[in-house]
Amino acid sequence: MPKAQETVLEIDLKALKHNFEYLKSKLQPKTKFLAVVKAFAYGGDAVEIAKYLQNLDIDYFAVAYANEGVALRKAGITTSILVLHPLAINFNIIIENCLEPNLYNAKILNEFIDFASAKKQNEYPIHIKFNTGLNRLGFLESDVEYIADTIKAAQAIKVKSLFSHLAASEDLKERDFTINQIHSFKTIVANFKTKTGYTPMLHMSNTSGILNYPESHFDMVRSGIGLYGFGNSEKESAYLKPIATLKTVISQIHNIEKGESVGYNRAYKSDGVITKTATLPLGHADGISRIYGNGNGFVTINGQKASIIGNVCMDMIMVNITDINCKEGDEVIVFDSNTITAETLANTANTISYELITSISQRVKRVFNGY
Ligand SMILES: *Cc1c(COP(=O)(O)O)cnc(C)c1O
Repeated sequence: MPKAQETVLEIDLKALKHNFEYLKSKLQPKTKFLAVVKAFAYGGDAVEIAKYLQNLDIDYFAVAYANEGVALRKAGITTSILVLHPLAINFNIIIENCLEPNLYNAKILNEFIDFASAKKQNEYPIHIKFNTGLNRLGFLESDVEYIADTIKAAQAIKVKSLFSHLAASEDLKERDFTINQIHSFKTIVANFKTKTGYTPMLHMSNTSGILNYPESHFDMVRSGIGLYGFGNSEKESAYLKPIATLKTVISQIHNIEKGESVGYNRAYKSDGVITKTATLPLGHADGISRIYGNGNGFVTINGQKASIIGNVCMDMIMVNITDINCKEGDEVIVFDSNTITAETLANTANTISYELITSISQRVKRVFNGY
């Protein structure tokens, strides 16, 4: 890649393929693979990433909200798309775009059946989610009979899958809890089969479930963060390759005298130790939260760490380059796929890779390599 001349997020599609193949190698040959491409494919670019994965014969996509699925359909994605968090106001665009809703409680199940019936649908594919401990979305184990009775009479819909979501699959200290979730899901599935006479496709595993709980794979797994290169543990992350590199450039260099301050609210006041700063064209509006300021986060310039000093501005940060040999126009690495990954930087702000990568705002240009 040429040196960055502005802030760019480079997406390495070869790394995406590597991660997909690594995760696939953990599965039985028959297990299907759903790629979670919500939130712009975790801050990458949902359309480009979904197109690339569709060519790799991915089985399914999932998005959080209906409009994310519409964007994929508009871009020509024909693979099945599960909408993880539909809302009744979006039923129309869901059906118009052949998106498959997750129905997670009695209210939305009944509303969708009514809507699909009114639209003269026949066996429209839907998915039923069960809450086995996350306490976020989903029916309870005790709702199976109600669901069976409700769907029996409903010609307009067809249950394509039953699923659940693990709460702590990355935390091996919560192994007992996770095993309980898997047992609870199995009980639900057995009851569903008894009450309806059939078993739809089953899935409950996210990336860490793929890596840590083979018994949670069932018919399909749902991976997001693993595809994008993070394994939620040092051991697993070593096998994966972060697909995104965030680069920028030095706009201006300042010499700072003892007693001078840098940035808004004079948050940094020089005691003479920091004598040179570089201003970079990215700020909290680009996804570098204010928590990275005041010495917490850092960038890399010509192989050396430059800490972020003072408050992060909306469109700029200032970094300490006192001991770094660099000039205006030089490239700056915010995070990359090897040494300073998004996980490393996220940890300086006590957060996780997921939050940092999904925060990189849409005004940051995306460039792709490795087609
Ligand atoms: C976001 C999400 C996933 C993906 O989880 P990762 O940890 O990124 O693999 C899977 N399932 C559901 C229901 C989700 O909301």
